[in-house]
This record gives sequence, structure tokens and C-alpha cells, in this order.
Amino acid sequence: MLDRRRFFALTAAGAAVATLPRMAFAQDKPFSLPPLGYPYEALEPHIDAQTMNLHHTRHHQAFITNLNNLVEKWPELAKGTPDDVLRNLSKAPEAIRTSIQNNLGGHWNHTFFWDIMTPGGAKEPQGELKDAIDKSFGSVDKMKERVNQAGAGRFGSGWAWLVVGKDGKLDVISTPNQDPPHLQGVRSTILGVDVWEHAYYLKYHNRRPDYLAAWWNTVNWDKASANFAKKG
Ligand code: MN
Repeated sequence: MLDRRRFFALTAAGAAVATLPRMAFAQDKPFSLPPLGYPYEALEPHIDAQTMNLHHTRHHQAFITNLNNLVEKWPELAKGTPDDVLRNLSKAPEAIRTSIQNNLGGHWNHTFFWDIMTPGGAKEPQGELKDAIDKSFGSVDKMKERVNQAGAGRFGSGWAWLVVGKDGKLDVISTPNQDPPHLQGVRSTILGVDVWEHAYYLKYHNRRPDYLAAWWNTVNWDKASANFAKKG
């Protein structure tokens, strides 16, 4: 997913600088804000347009700006895929390792989050993913309850995720701050929800459970199924 987006970002950047002096390439930034794929108001009424706009253009953009600054300190950051770097964080220089964890984690998490939502209302999982959910949790509703509990129970800021764990089975986990699921050694990530206050406060104020309940109406189950089929 990130690879494809990076490819298009580079293609667009390459086209844009083609008529500029060669120096423009040296100033080109390796990280760029990926597009949402739908308008800011598309997830209304579940997630309001102002929240989506600020979340994308301010919060996600801040990680991009920070990553482009971090690349100057550690050029390898831009050489591997975000997944590779996150799975091998111990290779990052100690002095900037936490910054890379926070900012690359934030970039990965949000890119994943935009992709796992879609306008068009609720659809339920189908096929292999539905069978696996039924087997692991009893039903789709019980799985949703587990994710909601993980999200509501996360003290402070973080994320709740449906993942395929090390044992190859579906599991629900929560991560603090901007830690991506990679840091818990998961095999793959199926879906996830941002429970930082910035993700819901304008519309839902302190009612995080109401936001979580509404969020399920935005889930892109086709994308979740594709994540499950890929299994890594
Ligand atoms: Mn966020």
C-alpha cells in the first residue's frame, strides 16, 4: 500500500520538477502526505469534514515534515519501506530512534487508517475474513465489541487493531501513542482505529465509545478482506 502510494508520489514529483533546474531534485523531499482517496466530508455524519481535514492536513502532515527532517540525520530512513524500517527499529541510531518510532509509526498508522475507511455506509465482512472472525470471536459483533473495548480502554492516546498474530490467528490489540502494530510482532494488520482525541473530539467531545460505535459505519471491508488475504 505504502509502496504504491510512494510510487505515485515520486512519479508526480518527477513530472513536476522535469522542467525545473536539476537542483530541484536535491530539494525534493522523500516523504509526502498520501491522498485520502475521498473528500473530507465523505464520511459524514460518522466523522465530520473538519475533523478529517485537520487530521489529514495538520496531524498527518506533521509526521511527514518531521520524517523529512529525520532523513537528513539518517538517510537510510528513506531507503527501506516503512514496514521494513518499523520491523527493524533497533538499526536506527539511538539518538533519533524514538522520533522515528513516533513519526514513522504515525505516518504508517494514518496511511493505513485512511485506507481502511470508505464512504458508502456499513458493509459486513464476507468470505474468508468473516469465517475467520466467526471462528476466533464467535461473531462479527463480538469482534467489534473487543475492538471497542480495546479502544475505549486505551488510557490516553493510541490505537485499537484487528490483527493476525504471531500464531496466525486473528486477535485484537491496542497500541499506545503512535506505536504501529509492528512493534507487537504481529504478522499482519486487518483494520485499526485511531482513538487519539484529535480523531473525534470536535464532534464527539469526550464520548470515545460513541465515536467507536459510529466508526464501524465507515469501515472498508473490501480493504480489510484484502489485508487478510495478503496475510503480511
Ligand atoms: Mn490521528
